[in-house]
Amino acid sequence: MKGLKGSPALKVQVMCEGIRYTDALGRAATHSMPNFYPYRFKQGEHDPTGKGLATIPYLINTRDGTEIRVLGNGDSPWHVEGDREQGYVLIDDRSGQREPVGFEPLDPWMTHKTSDGMPLAQAGLQTHGDMLVINVAPGCEYFLHKHDGRSMRCAFCAYGAPDERTAHLGQVTGQVGIPQRTLERMAEGLHAIVSQTTIRHIYLVGGSLTDARKEGERFLQLARFVKRENRYGIPVALGSGALPDDQIEQFRREQLVDFVCFNLEMWSEPLFAKVCPGKNRYVGYQRWIEALETAVRVFGRGRVYSAMVAGIELDPEHGLEWQEAARLALEGAEELCRRGVIPIYSLMWPPGGKERPDYHERIRGYFEALNLGYSDIRKKYDLHFSPGFMCHRCAYMQIECDLDRQEAAA
Ligand code: SF4
Repeated sequence: MKGLKGSPALKVQVMCEGIRYTDALGRAATHSMPNFYPYRFKQGEHDPTGKGLATIPYLINTRDGTEIRVLGNGDSPWHVEGDREQGYVLIDDRSGQREPVGFEPLDPWMTHKTSDGMPLAQAGLQTHGDMLVINVAPGCEYFLHKHDGRSMRCAFCAYGAPDERTAHLGQVTGQVGIPQRTLERMAEGLHAIVSQTTIRHIYLVGGSLTDARKEGERFLQLARFVKRENRYGIPVALGSGALPDDQIEQFRREQLVDFVCFNLEMWSEPLFAKVCPGKNRYVGYQRWIEALETAVRVFGRGRVYSAMVAGIELDPEHGLEWQEAARLALEGAEELCRRGVIPIYSLMWPPGGKERPDYHERIRGYFEALNLGYSDIRKKYDLHFSPGFMCHRCAYMQIECDLDRQEAAA
């Protein structure tokens, strides 16, 4: 049976098993882009901070330029040693494997301020390698609605809650437009980032609105503004929810974006309804797929993507073993590719089932099987990741671009 080799194999292993805390990882955090999730020391684990929490780096860079998301895990066999001067090394306790690594740096813009004194780090911008993510309205209305006692937010989402992180961006619930000042601050950040680091992709994202048309209006405003400011010609992707057909055409007519990425997240209607209740209720599974089909008609094959969460369906509540989950996800990959839509799979740890001794093993088995099978499906339908949309330098939780690069090199 074929399996992953080289950097993609290392990446999947480290993504699935995480990294445990060491002083070296703590040292690396002082000069690296900080992780969205702090490290949480498990009970009994040596905690040199004495606080139970520590800042850790966000992304590892291997020597061949592969990006790996750092996930803290006190039980992991992987740890980091070294320092900035001598270099860092990632070590597997079991095999003794040692990989020289670096970390995504803390670029100067992250500690700079806008002309009116707001930290640029709060201006609705984030980078992942060479991708600039613009998110000036992150608050998602699905967090505000409940049906039958159940929140409408996506089960895996930890970032869309409208809270103090959205207040400074001037986002007000019920208001569709983005404040002009917010856009201007974001533009200052965009120019600073482009002057300090290489950006090859811009990705427009934001929290969802329960009214897809209003969400489309917000994204039209954002995309028009970004088009004006993007004097660098960096390709732009629309990462909204599934929009009405006429709005998809509007984006094309005005040449506002180069790519479309409506995230279906989960193949199969029952799983979609469970994992993404808000998307299911306010847009609907079939309509989501129709919108992707419209986008292919309007933008063309190779320009329409859909991010999928991969692994969350291994949560015990769904009753799936990893082989079955992989088979279902591959069925989805085939169906989407048949329609000219390119899915992209981000690894997501299932919240439940951690007491199982094979917890990490089954995630890995699933993710490897999915990606190997999906690589064949992309070939069958002659679909390729456009380097303008995404590449191995920004894919930190996905391995499609790493696999394609490895194959091209071979
Ligand atoms: S649509 Fe889902 S994933 Fe996106 S912000 Fe809302 S809850 Fe989170």
